[in-house]
Amino acid sequence: MTGVTGVTGLTDVTRSAGSAASAGSVAPTASGGSAEPTGAVPPALVPARDDVALMAGYHSPQVDVAVRLNTNEAPEPPPAAFTARLAERLAAIAWHRYPDRSYTALRTAIAAAHGVGPEQVFAANGSNEVLQTLLLAYGGPGRTAAVFEPTYALHSHIARITGTGVVAGERAPDFSLDLTEVGRVLAGASPAITFLCSPNNPTGMVEGEAAVRHVVDAAPGLVAVDEAYGQFAPWSALELVSDDRTIVVTRTFSKTWSMAAARLGYLVGPRWVVGQLDKVALPYHLDAVKQAAGELALEFRDEMAARVASLVEERGRLTAALAELPVDVWPSGANFVLFRPRGRDGHDVWQALLDRAVLVRDCASWPRLEGCLRVTLGTRTEDDAFLAALTEVLT
Ligand code: PMP
Repeated sequence: MTGVTGVTGLTDVTRSAGSAASAGSVAPTASGGSAEPTGAVPPALVPARDDVALMAGYHSPQVDVAVRLNTNEAPEPPPAAFTARLAERLAAIAWHRYPDRSYTALRTAIAAAHGVGPEQVFAANGSNEVLQTLLLAYGGPGRTAAVFEPTYALHSHIARITGTGVVAGERAPDFSLDLTEVGRVLAGASPAITFLCSPNNPTGMVEGEAAVRHVVDAAPGLVAVDEAYGQFAPWSALELVSDDRTIVVTRTFSKTWSMAAARLGYLVGPRWVVGQLDKVALPYHLDAVKQAAGELALEFRDEMAARVASLVEERGRLTAALAELPVDVWPSGANFVLFRPRGRDGHDVWQALLDRAVLVRDCASWPRLEGCLRVTLGTRTEDDAFLAALTEVLT
């Protein structure tokens, strides 16, 4: 089923996220996000935009428990040498001056890492802000973005924030892209931006090269492939990026680079896209600290590649262990695994894990993902704690 909405549908606040998760009350939404904690909110003196007033915020509960496997972060901080060298760089910052507005060194380093020109790179405060900038430039009132559900809820959420209409197509029952459905949605809505996510959050599924090429050829507008987890997958759409194709690929430093705290993400795309994004971004939007941290991180590529390799190995171990339990497991190309406890209420299992100090993502009430939970790969010790708790809960 497909529906075009200019106004959010994120207001389906049905139940609390669980007592341990709610310092105050934190209410999940149909999108999988949760409203900010509710307190005594004073009456509004000025109304917000109608569509914004109807929206629920997007928020994943941050709970202080021993094993936090709910937000797909890297399990380890960056290497000690990175932190030490960053401290030196920070000491050299001209704090009284605005940073390099074009973040030339960082842009050049990212471009070199991907074998493209610096004019093909746009960076911002997390890949979410990259997506927002893309939607500000190519979406907006009167334009539409297409998503294929289930997928990363922020694609449609950010689209709506920017006043972009959203058309949602359905994936096949196994969560793969259904190209007939894709064709139908593209023909019907003529979206300015079509979002793909590979590996897809929260299913973990990697889109094949043939499918991505098909969508790029069929889409009337831009195709944005969100590769927040791209380093964990066997194939990347980055190799398709060129000035004569309508594809952009987004990446983040939040996962592989162990830098979720820094908020840094980027896009690789045609020069004619990057030129428009540069116009939309606020002046000096990337601070000097972030520019230094990102540039330095790219000098640690070998260390990060080794970490990715060991997480991929850990993914195999965790998936195999899950297969021994009464759960359905989806194959993942990312640093997380989606699973569904059989014959048990997913939210109850989530709560029982939390009671054992293990926090995973509760997708149980999300449309199309009934009863599902998503676990981020942690350290071996954290994953063992998760597996022990899950075994206790389910057997
Ligand atoms: N895209 C996907 C698919 C994600 O899962 C996430 C993080 N949850 C992001 C983008 C946003 O990442 P960042 O920290 O770079 O904003």
